[in-house]
Amino acid sequence: MKKLLLFFIMFFLITIQLMALNVSKYKIDVTIDTETHSISGVSEIFFPYQKGNILVPIGNKIEINSLFLNNTKIAVDIVKKGNENFLKIVPVYFKDQNKLEIYYYGTFKNVPQNAMFSQEFMNIGTDGYIKDDFVYLPPDGYWYPHFDGVLAPFSLKVKTKSNLIFVTTGNFLGKSSDGIYNVFSFSEDKPVEPIFLIGGKYKVDKDYLNGISIYTYFFNEDEFLSSKYLAAVKRYIKMYSDLIGPYPFKKFAVVENQLPTGFGMPSYTLLGQEVLRLPFIVYTSLGHEVLHNWWGNSVFVNYSEGNWCEGLTSYMADHYYKELKSEKDAVNYRRQLLVNYMSYVKKGNEISLSEFIERHNPAQRAIGYGKSLMVFHMLRKLVGDDVFYEALKNFYSEMVWKKASWEDIRKIFEDTWEKVHEKTLEEYKKENKKIPEFEKNLDTSLDWFFSQWIFRKGAPEIGIKLNMVFQVSENDYLISFDLTQSEPLYKLLIPVEIVTEKGKEFRKITFSDKEHEFQIILKNKPLKLIVDPDYDVFRKLYPEEIPPSISTVLGKDTLYVYFSNNFKNSESYAKIMKSVFPKKDIFKVKTLEDALSKASEGKCVLFFQTPSENLNSKIKDISMQDIDIKDGNLFLNSKPNPIMGNKKAIIVFKNRMTQNTSLALFVDDGNEISFERVLNKIIHYGKYGYLIFDGEKNILKGEWETLKSPLILDIK
Ligand SMILES: [Zn+2]
Repeated sequence: MKKLLLFFIMFFLITIQLMALNVSKYKIDVTIDTETHSISGVSEIFFPYQKGNILVPIGNKIEINSLFLNNTKIAVDIVKKGNENFLKIVPVYFKDQNKLEIYYYGTFKNVPQNAMFSQEFMNIGTDGYIKDDFVYLPPDGYWYPHFDGVLAPFSLKVKTKSNLIFVTTGNFLGKSSDGIYNVFSFSEDKPVEPIFLIGGKYKVDKDYLNGISIYTYFFNEDEFLSSKYLAAVKRYIKMYSDLIGPYPFKKFAVVENQLPTGFGMPSYTLLGQEVLRLPFIVYTSLGHEVLHNWWGNSVFVNYSEGNWCEGLTSYMADHYYKELKSEKDAVNYRRQLLVNYMSYVKKGNEISLSEFIERHNPAQRAIGYGKSLMVFHMLRKLVGDDVFYEALKNFYSEMVWKKASWEDIRKIFEDTWEKVHEKTLEEYKKENKKIPEFEKNLDTSLDWFFSQWIFRKGAPEIGIKLNMVFQVSENDYLISFDLTQSEPLYKLLIPVEIVTEKGKEFRKITFSDKEHEFQIILKNKPLKLIVDPDYDVFRKLYPEEIPPSISTVLGKDTLYVYFSNNFKNSESYAKIMKSVFPKKDIFKVKTLEDALSKASEGKCVLFFQTPSENLNSKIKDISMQDIDIKDGNLFLNSKPNPIMGNKKAIIVFKNRMTQNTSLALFVDDGNEISFERVLNKIIHYGKYGYLIFDGEKNILKGEWETLKSPLILDIK
């Protein structure tokens, strides 16, 4: 998660003249009273000369006491637009440099009920609240008047009689006391997005790395996690400073939130308690949020051509950590991105990367994160590792504290590639060596690459046909095959693996026609030909390449649900499903016969049963995966897993009758509360084919093997 872009865009549409406003600085001085849930103080906005009126957004929570422009009191004029209020300032007294002082007061009490963490919905239902044990003031609640989407330095003083500890973006200058109030001071001289103000009963731990202060602000009960987080943040800052360039801020803080968020802001991350306690967060999301300080928070996104920053951040964080673990983990990760694309992206919701701003649903995530990540991966495969990492360093040093677009990325990658290439050619000349053909003919332009991947929707569909295998001489074999692709055509760099009698051989093929014949000479007899074995190309998968998984079910708009006769609370279960997935059409089917007939029509059916029932043989028969339930055990590939007690199991399997649609089996103890919680969680388990929960805690997860693929040719 990042910026509050939706507001930025709405705002952009309402008052375009405002976007031109350059804020040189905000100086905010506020007092927080937890007893009255109120905030009061002054926000000073410094800005250069401006033609025309200024409308300062003030939301709908604060009231203006008085207003001064360049030290002269002026009248308060409020303009209402929809639900939001704006302070109208006429330009009569504007100078070259201006100071607007806004004295205001506001009450924030909106504590959200049952806020749920979600990957897809980032509005957690509050514009901010002030309580005796916690203060949560997001910028979109306008706890201080500011312009959305405008980046500016700031200084902030927070006074409070409470014993809360405050934290926000930028440098923490210290805490002092004036006898009555505790005073917290912050500042940042770099341009930053509008800020959140967070206060809590924190235990603060601190560490240092090369002059950077690293903090954790954790609640008492979680302080024991602090050392793990501090060490991980140090590791990430060091790693990315080496890969990209120096860390752009003077501090990084991990801040625990009462609300279930996973937000990344300049110089800190705000993590809900539940998220913070997840053991894998330090190895995944934390690094992603640290990396956003380079991509997003210091190289800003020029959204006019789409948001590149999530793809690059995910590539250098989530995907990179898989690569560091093993090549196989990275391959599986990429395959899953393609599965997500196939599961969630349909004709009606497909966008190009140049249209992606921010994710609001799984389809946008599959494109704005998944496809975007794959584009960086293909770019790296195209230019090579050396050029790729050097270009990223150049991109950072050239664009830091500026707004960058895909076009800037293209230019910098092209320039870097060209320079590295020129150097290589010079070295050949210096050493009087013959320049190889491929170096001579190398084309370092990237126009075609960016136009097909960034500005076009969709993905290529690749096919293969074997023509012949031919023994040319005693030691040489020739294999001839056609690659095909559907229109519109892409220029693709496709890896091909040939399994021979004596091991594997690899080739890279450039392919841009609808159909093209390729011939490869091999030293050993070929047995198998595999196109794109490691999922290096962003392409449409064949149904056979997609193992049944939670995401293949979650991607369906219509679900049919069958409850076995022994299943007690089918009514409330159906209700819970509708409330967790409000956008899906969910229909109950009465009999197993009806359910099976829906399945035979290719519909997605969810079969519910209790743990003590054996699996009905008719359901077992239509599964392509090896599953069974007998005597309180769930058998997966013939391996028993006990499911009695407070357990829930979700198993997704493929329908043998239709060859590829997914069906799911829910084995459930009947506990509604944990069912609702598990349903809310399963979006995080999208890639898995089977899950077992004890209550709401996951105790088993696994993926099914991929079945045969049309891109694997057995050569007889
Ligand atoms: Zn991100």
